[in-house]
Amino acid sequence: MAQAVKIKSIEHLTHDVLKIVADKPEGLSYTPGQAVDVSVNKPGWEEELRAFTFTSQPEDDFIEFNIKTYPSHNGVTNQLQSMQAGDELLIGDVFGDIHYKGEGVFIAGGAGITPFIAIINQLEKENKIGNNKLLFANKSTKDIFNKERFERQLGSHYINVLSDEKTEAHEHGYITADIIKKYAGDNTKYFYLCGPPPMMDAVEKSLASLGITEESIVKEPF
Ligand SMILES: Cc1cc2nc3c(=O)[nH]c(=O)nc-3n(C[C@H](O)[C@H](O)[C@H](O)COP(=O)(O)OP(=O)(O)OC[C@H]3O[C@@H](n4cnc5c(N)ncnc54)[C@H](O)[C@@H]3O)c2cc1C
Repeated sequence: MAQAVKIKSIEHLTHDVLKIVADKPEGLSYTPGQAVDVSVNKPGWEEELRAFTFTSQPEDDFIEFNIKTYPSHNGVTNQLQSMQAGDELLIGDVFGDIHYKGEGVFIAGGAGITPFIAIINQLEKENKIGNNKLLFANKSTKDIFNKERFERQLGSHYINVLSDEKTEAHEHGYITADIIKKYAGDNTKYFYLCGPPPMMDAVEKSLASLGITEESIVKEPF
């Protein structure tokens, strides 16, 4: 049964990404990288379940989501845009295929970064960031979120790849086999992959062309 929780705060991280902090439902447990079914506790919207990934840590006494909104479309994320502290969300079942198995390369497209925010924050807490790397694909600079924290956590192992903008600081284009090879090196054990299905398909083809087998890939389409 879904539990109603109150939103504690809601703010914009970028032009279209919201950070929502809410009360933690009683008895909720999850692992970093997992998502949960969420709906808006408002007449007509209670049954409209959408998956969002916890960017909070399991031991926090609140839950947090980073949510990319689609304002041109009358869906759940558009509803979230007009919500305020004190309004309610319904929190349902926890699920998700992404969990940390060991050092590797995280590859994210857009909101597909959220499971990796949770996992990298946990690794930082446990002092286990090690040699992990992150390739983060976005359209342009204004779409990047959590940048300062990733820079602090990963240093030169954090690479932004922008499809629609050329800058000195970031790679330009899509995440191709060449980009993966350039940054991953030769002995990567795990590739973690999350993003929109077309991006996932393209990256999986690139990984296959580099001889990476399914057993090394941990993935979830958004
Ligand atoms: C396991 C999992 C975890 C996820 N975690 C997160 C997360 O942490 N953060 C996050 O931001 N997202 C996450 N997502 C994605 C998120 O669930 C969807 O973006 C969300 O369902 C969008 O809800 P919506 O009602 O606003 O749009 P929906 O009605 O569900 O529409 C979905 C898609 O329609 C497309 N669309 C946009 N505008 C239009 C239009 N005008 N007409 C038709 N289609 C349009 C969008 O590309 C969008 O992807 C996750 C998905 C999965 C499967």
